[in-house]
Parts: sequence; C-alpha cells; structure tokens
Amino acid sequence: MAAKPKVPVKLVSWDEIVEWSRGLASRIEESGWKPDVIVAVARGGYVPARLLCDFLDVTDLLSVQSQHWVEAARMAEKAILKFPYKLDLSDLKVLLVDDIVDTGDTLILAKDFIAREWTPKDLKIAALQWISPVAKIKPDYYYIEVKEWIWFQYPWTRLEDTMQFITRIFREDERVKGKIIREDELKSVFKEWYGIEPESLGFYWDMALEKLAAKGVLERVEGGFKAVKV
Ligand code: ADP
Repeated sequence: MAAKPKVPVKLVSWDEIVEWSRGLASRIEESGWKPDVIVAVARGGYVPARLLCDFLDVTDLLSVQSQHWVEAARMAEKAILKFPYKLDLSDLKVLLVDDIVDTGDTLILAKDFIAREWTPKDLKIAALQWISPVAKIKPDYYYIEVKEWIWFQYPWTRLEDTMQFITRIFREDERVKGKIIREDELKSVFKEWYGIEPESLGFYWDMALEKLAAKGVLERVEGGFKAVKV
C-alpha cells in the first residue's frame, strides 16, 4: 500500500461542484428560508454563490473579500477584510456563502462585519463543506461534513495550488532542495507528497511549471528543473 501523503489532497471536479451546490440549495429550500441577497466571500465563495443564485432564483449577488495577513513577529495568519464598504440591508435577508469552513475565522469575521455594518434583517451562512473537528463555527447550511482534514483542490484554484504544491517540494524536500531534478522524479515526489497523480491535473501541470519558470522560481536546465528562489 502507498504511504500516507504528507498533505492529503482531493481533486474536486466541476461536476462535483455543481452537484454539491445543487445539494446545498436543496437543503436551504427544504428549510423554508429564502434569501433576498447572496453575499459571496471572495474568492472561494464566488462559484458556489453564483450557482446558489441560479438554483434558488436569487438575482442580487454581492461580495466581501477576505485576505490572510501574516502578523509581524508572529507566524499566525490573521484574516482581515479588504474593502470594508458600508451598505444598508435592513430590509433584506442575507445568505453569506463560502466554499469551505476550515478554521472558520474568515466567516466569523465576514459575518460580524455584515451584521454590524450592513444591518440585514436576517443573516445566515452556507458553505459546500464544513470541517467539523477544526471549525470554530458551524454554518447554518452545509452539504458535506468533513471529519478528517484534507486540502480540497477546487477547480477554480487549480493553477495556483499546483504552483504552490510544487514550490513547497522545492523548499522543503531534502531530496530536491538545491538539486537538479528530472521531471519524472518530480512527478513521483509530487505523488508522494500529495497523493494525487500529476497526470490527473491535465494541462495545469505543464502550465504551473511554465509559470514558475517565468516567475524565476524554477529554472529549466539540462535534464530537468532547479529551484532558483523558493
Ligand atoms: P475559514 O475561515 O472558512 O475556516 P480559512 O480562513 O481557514 O477558512 O480559509 C479561507 C479560505 O481558504 C477558504 O474559504 C478556502 O477558499 C480556503 N481553504 C481553507 N481551508 C481549505 C481546505 N481544507 N481545502 C480547500 N480550501 C481551503
């Protein structure tokens, strides 16, 4: 049996996103509650929020953007809201939507901000997935409860994630650090780290290597790749 990957990854397909969003919409409908406005947490909540608008027949879609900030002198990442604009939603029922509730920090922040600054008539939270053992909040609606932490590789961050996955190998793997590595070797190390086949990423694999080379993170050399600045 293959060893456990260092970072367990599940590749999520577009079809699964549609299926999960449809399931989430059904849960909301079955509860008898209907939002007037949907607010997507950027950027992860955009696609699920747009699909919920379609499935729940909601026209108004807004968004708030969260950002992770590495606090100086502390390695802890703190979530902050970028562009904290004011609105008056006192006549409206609001549904705040994100892809996943992991720590829950982003959603706690967004929910408090909206409640305080936009004063909606009602405010509920929906997420496709909820990592119940680690999350500080439980969303009002979710489709999948995740009991063991996994990185869900959503289709809208496939390039970004693949680039980060590869960079991390060059930064941390002793067999690769400072060396020239052949692409087939890199593929097998990648499989070991993340438990997924680079082939399953389709064109994103080549694109990620190209972008990393263009950014000067990696260099394409005779016989393979070498890290330049990771
Ligand atoms: P939350 O505040 O929702 O717990 P975090 O603050 O930990 O989430 O992360 C914010 C965003 O990072 C999420 O909305 C999602 O886009 C991404 N993210 C966090 N954890 C995961 C995960 N396990 N798999 C995929 N994406 C994740």
